[in-house]
Amino acid sequence: MEMPEFLSPLVDYFVGEIPLLRTAKTIQIVTIRQTHDFTVFRTEETRELNIVTLPKSASDPEPVLKVVMLASKQKAPENRNYTTLFRTFAEKEGVKLDDVVKECRLKDNLCRMCPRCVLFGAVSTEGGRGADRWNIKHRIEYSSAYSIEPYERISELITFNAVDPATQSTGQALGYTENVRPIANFPSVVTLNSVTWHELLWYLKTLLATKSYGAETRVKGDTVNYIVGVVAGFEEVITPLELNLELCDAEWQNDPITTVYKILKKYSKEASSVNVTRVLKPEEVKELIEGVKQFEVNKEFLEEFMRIAKDFNDKASEEAKKSK
Ligand SMILES: [Zn+2]
Repeated sequence: MEMPEFLSPLVDYFVGEIPLLRTAKTIQIVTIRQTHDFTVFRTEETRELNIVTLPKSASDPEPVLKVVMLASKQKAPENRNYTTLFRTFAEKEGVKLDDVVKECRLKDNLCRMCPRCVLFGAVSTEGGRGADRWNIKHRIEYSSAYSIEPYERISELITFNAVDPATQSTGQALGYTENVRPIANFPSVVTLNSVTWHELLWYLKTLLATKSYGAETRVKGDTVNYIVGVVAGFEEVITPLELNLELCDAEWQNDPITTVYKILKKYSKEASSVNVTRVLKPEEVKELIEGVKQFEVNKEFLEEFMRIAKDFNDKASEEAKKSK
């Protein structure tokens, strides 16, 4: 299947087949993750937010507290959704999937041959037998994202009541959880390495479709992703921390795509090989997002997407046998 036109600015950074060893080809997707509801971004059972002291902005070293959206909290729902979308479209288009692919799930039943496993990585859970015990290294990387707004402005304590399980009556206030308020902004960078155009397209669809990032299962934690920039090169060009500090210096709200374009331009000049680094222009970013939304997922696309993942599985298992 031919690559759609809206992906052509990135053509030099795609691979045709997933390689056994990573190449340097790197695509970074810049997103502003914005809370649209009270959201809990905590890690463990503590009911507090993860916070960190950082400089106020790139030009102002004054220390301020910012809220952290951990990498793992961004990855988990996207990882799940990447495969849910794939299976749902496969069913809709009548694409036959192997049982192992249909049953593939985190964390102990990964099939190592579906589009999700080959991109997000998979650790073998087979017991014992040498040649079967090979793993897939992920080609997608997440980093922690930090709030643009200071902690004091976006945190809110919400008390909850104890519910008597027998009577369902509520007793006295039991405690509180610390939530992030709606309209808090977390600039995030996700880095894709050695991906096919199918994988980038699917990841962007997943990013646009994923809207739930909270820690509590009953509190949804509505969060919307705005894709605001893309940079490609033979290395990572920007970190979320750099992006955060730069945005804290900018009037970004009116035109985040142009603001991020200028920031990415600045950082691309610091790349080790400037001539192979490419920042998508604001128009190209908008066309890319529109193209992803309009792209009609059909049987041909899904079968090719699945075939490429399976080919990688064949190559990797073959290699594992050789090295046994
Ligand atoms: Zn799988």
